[in-house]
This record gives sequence, C-alpha cells and structure tokens, in this order.
Amino acid sequence: MMRLRSQDLECWKCGMSLAAVTLPFRRLEPCPQCEAELHVCKMCRYYDSHVSDQCTEDQAEQVRNKERANFCDYFTPRAGAHTAGRTATSQASKQQLNDLFASSPEGSGSNRDEAGAARDALKDLFKSDR
Ligand SMILES: [Zn+2]
Repeated sequence: MMRLRSQDLECWKCGMSLAAVTLPFRRLEPCPQCEAELHVCKMCRYYDSHVSDQCTEDQAEQVRNKERANFCDYFTPRAGAHTAGRTATSQASKQQLNDLFASSPEGSGSNRDEAGAARDALKDLFKSDR
C-alpha cells in the first residue's frame, strides 16, 4: 500500500491543497483555507455517495454527518476528495448559494435603498403637484 502524503490531498470542500497539514489529521484538523473539518467522511477513502450510509467500510460505525469531524477508526484520507465529491451535490449547493445571496441583507438592502429613492422621488413629485 502506498504511503499517503499530505501534498497529495486536497480539501474535500474547497479543493485547497493540504500540503501544509501534517498527517495523520488531528480529529478537529481544519482546512487552512476554508476551515472545514478534515477528519470527515467526505475526506475519507471509504466514502461513497452511491452506497447505503455512504461508507464502503463494513466495520465502521455509521456516521450521520458526513461533513463534521468523526471518531471513526477507519478514517483514511484520500487524494482527490474535492473532485470526487463534486457530483450531484455541486448543483444543489450552487442553488443554496444563490438562495443565500438572494435573501442576504446586502442584496435586499440595496434594493430597499433603490425603492426608497424611488419613493422619495415620487413624494417630491406629489409635493410639487400640491
Ligand atoms: Zn477547504
């Protein structure tokens, strides 16, 4: 079996190279860039979204949250975790992101300013009519 080096690994979430992180991961090891926890199913070689409970290791205890640090004894980081995880979920998360931006305070704030400016202009119009 080939020995895994951290420079072969990338964050499952943002794709950042994990060369700066020493192996093995501490349980709460964060990604240097996005601070996602790295000791998680999605970073593990046994993770497979196509099988039931998304783990191909039969002995491993079921981990419910695949994106939070787990206590799994079988955790083994795998190279290409980011690329491999970008399948059906990428579309869903993109939609979530769009929703987030649509409802963000910044977005509605600028809209409110525009609406407010329009209302003021309208008020001025009525004022001058009177
Ligand atoms: Zn990351």
